[in-house]
Amino acid sequence: MTLLVQKYGGTSVASIERIKAVAEKVAASRKAGNQLVVVLSAMSGVTNNLLAWANEVQADPNVRELDVLLSTGEQTTIALLAMALEELGCPARSYTGGQVKILTDAAHTKARIIDIEQEHIRRDLDNGEVVVVAGFQGVTEAGDITTLGRGGSDTTAVALAAALKADECQIYTDVDGVYTTDPRVVANARRLDSITFEEMLEMSSLGAKVLQIRSVEFASKYNVPLRVLSSFEEGPGTYIGSEDATMMELPLISGIAFTRDEAKLSILGVPDIPGMAHKVFGPISAAGIEVDVIVQNIGNDQTNDITFTVQRKDTAKASKILEGVAKEIKAEQVLVDDKVAKLSIVGVGMRSHAGIASRMFETLANESINIQLITTSEIKISIVIEEKYLELAVRALHDAFELEGPDSKS
Ligand code: ADP
Ligand code: ASP
Ligand code: MG
Repeated sequence: MTLLVQKYGGTSVASIERIKAVAEKVAASRKAGNQLVVVLSAMSGVTNNLLAWANEVQADPNVRELDVLLSTGEQTTIALLAMALEELGCPARSYTGGQVKILTDAAHTKARIIDIEQEHIRRDLDNGEVVVVAGFQGVTEAGDITTLGRGGSDTTAVALAAALKADECQIYTDVDGVYTTDPRVVANARRLDSITFEEMLEMSSLGAKVLQIRSVEFASKYNVPLRVLSSFEEGPGTYIGSEDATMMELPLISGIAFTRDEAKLSILGVPDIPGMAHKVFGPISAAGIEVDVIVQNIGNDQTNDITFTVQRKDTAKASKILEGVAKEIKAEQVLVDDKVAKLSIVGVGMRSHAGIASRMFETLANESINIQLITTSEIKISIVIEEKYLELAVRALHDAFELEGPDSKS
């Protein structure tokens, strides 16, 4: 018997009609002889609404209580799906994260899964039932509810698939696979038949929210075959696996990811003596601010300029810290720009091909787009540019690297 873990995201369970449609799909797959564990998100918009409520009540919401609140979105959908399945004559049983016992650490709102108890799930599967599990949530050893970070239902699904050694983990969403870039931004983006874990990891961490980063890390670590599919239409979707498993002819560039969620800060005229970078980044990190791109240049006479990016929500906090540091180390000036975006081209084919960076830079030059920062790794090149040019840059690069679909007109 084939054991599948299927995850349906927020838009796939956004209304009672959609939940009934998911129930039809699940019941059909069960009837075809598959064993099924179904992981659900909250109805789309619900987690955002709950968050907004929390912020209305408490300026900086207590994270333990926030997790109690946020986990309710998924508790609603699992119960409704289990009922819809029973209504179709398909026996089903729903479980919250705590009921399964998806054990996590106590890092509220960004908890990590430590262990998953299989007892209930195995028993129900053996009894021929569909097991419906709330995504995005777990429980600590002490019994507190936790959540796994935004988009965390993907990670619940992959972790369950790894624990149960499922034959495939299927992520059903509102697009029919992983595309060369966000299809909402580039109309002629192309669906990829397959992509390697490594590339998907870069795409996710560089802004493609189709899969939560942690879910891809998990899939890669435990070698869980993963597929992204549409819950709205039939199709093969996109297979995500190890480089051998994807067996593809490696293209130079597989995709373009981007994020507007960036702000750039610079501290100019930093004395060129040991310990300065530590003085700058020590307090930033102590404040829990994640730093992304870092660039240091030699400035004028015995000084350096340091520029880095943070998530846009952290701009005010980071700039205040930096002003303090600048005074302390007698740096000249602090500059802040939160109208920037990061764009990255990703592909394992880059390893064996030279000239990709220059083609990227030439394309941007032809569009008169100024590059502010550049970072590279083995399989990606990221740049920071002015936000207003982001969509133009994505489209131009999509064309330059010939990523468009077969039926596109451009
Ligand atoms: P769900 O609610 O099902 O978890 P998400 O909204 O989290 O769905 O993820 C699906 C969305 O990801 C798509 O609607 C699409 O706009 C966006 N997306 C961004 N980059 C890509 C990409 N490269 N391929 C496919 N979808 C992408
Ligand atoms: N409902 C949660 C969120 O909106 C988790 C998820 O959908 O994966 O982030
Ligand atoms: Mg998602």
